[in-house]
Amino acid sequence: MRSLSQFYEFMDSIQTVRRMITGYYLMQAHHGRHVESLKNALAAMDDLPGDAVDKRLDAAGRPVTVTIDYERSELEKDVYFLTHSDEEFLDYLSRLHDGFAEEVERTVQFLRSQETHSFVSDRDGTVNNYCGRYRSSHQSVWNAAYLTQFVRAVPAVPVLLTSAPLFEEGLLAMSAMPEHSTNYAGSLGREYCDREGNRGALELSDEQERAIGKLNGRIDALLSRREFATFALIGSGLQHKFGQTTVARQDIHGSIPQELSAEFLKAIRSTVRDIDPEGVMFGIEDTGKDVEIMLTVEGGRRFTKGDGLAYLDEALGLRLADSPCLVCGDTSSDLPMVEKVVELGGRERTGAIFVTGDQELRRKVAEAADRSHFVSTPDALVAALHRVALERDDAGGRQ
Ligand SMILES: [Mg+2]
Repeated sequence: MRSLSQFYEFMDSIQTVRRMITGYYLMQAHHGRHVESLKNALAAMDDLPGDAVDKRLDAAGRPVTVTIDYERSELEKDVYFLTHSDEEFLDYLSRLHDGFAEEVERTVQFLRSQETHSFVSDRDGTVNNYCGRYRSSHQSVWNAAYLTQFVRAVPAVPVLLTSAPLFEEGLLAMSAMPEHSTNYAGSLGREYCDREGNRGALELSDEQERAIGKLNGRIDALLSRREFATFALIGSGLQHKFGQTTVARQDIHGSIPQELSAEFLKAIRSTVRDIDPEGVMFGIEDTGKDVEIMLTVEGGRRFTKGDGLAYLDEALGLRLADSPCLVCGDTSSDLPMVEKVVELGGRERTGAIFVTGDQELRRKVAEAADRSHFVSTPDALVAALHRVALERDDAGGRQ
């Protein structure tokens, strides 16, 4: 394994195994042998050229630094998880995070007091640790098992809502949860796949559909040029979302020369101008690392996860207007979900848990919802969700 593309294929193949192991785990039929394949995968990661986590791989002819801390640590957690008890695994997580046990305890308290008809949660940075590369942000076994137990036991309607696309190399491919366990929504809620496997999407006008088709074709053509091919592989890579396209122009290591990154941005801007000369159809946002080109709504406003949630409320039967909802997120792009739930269901029915240390964001969440709670790591949130699921199961068993 020498290239980033090979690494992604390798991660995809591990995911097939993880999905199977998660299924066995949930049926309490997992076997010691299952863990061997994950140990082998760890060894293969360690054999990649470079340091322990900073690997040097080829991305379309350009050497880039690829920090595989997420991929490696989640795999290590899986090996530990599958060879130890739940209690030992929580001890393991407490050794990774300061104040972990107290945080889990406080979150469990909050969850006990929160009615949860619907559960709407962001994925990356919220219920899944954040990975620098979208293409290898695969869900681990322990995370899939714990989340599945929660969504099966607690909410009537769970939704995982992300900004990433849903299909092809999107959210569904990254998941290790068994089929039919949760509803998924991608592209900020513009598209969904429900628990029965039905798919739906917010309708675009013919004009919008034509424009986005043209845009994607032109960006694919740009990326097929030798000098630009690396951009499809690094960082966020290329994501054809529904109603939005994201493409990387730099990674966190600055692997791409500044001039080339700037040239690529210029080429994208001119492509968008070509398709939308008046600038009414698309908005462009450049973070320096990623360029996002999205269809706008209502006179140029940016589509938010709140808009997506309003659509999903109908499409997935969330009943936000008359039943309690728990919203989880980690960045300001998740705030519109809280605001939408409050708008539809009222402050008293809404609970919010955010995984953030950002004081300003915490203040905004606390202002938007009466009931809010904060944790510092996705691991603490997922561990707490799991605990509450077990309590619910026990209570169910006694009835
Ligand atoms: Mg997030």
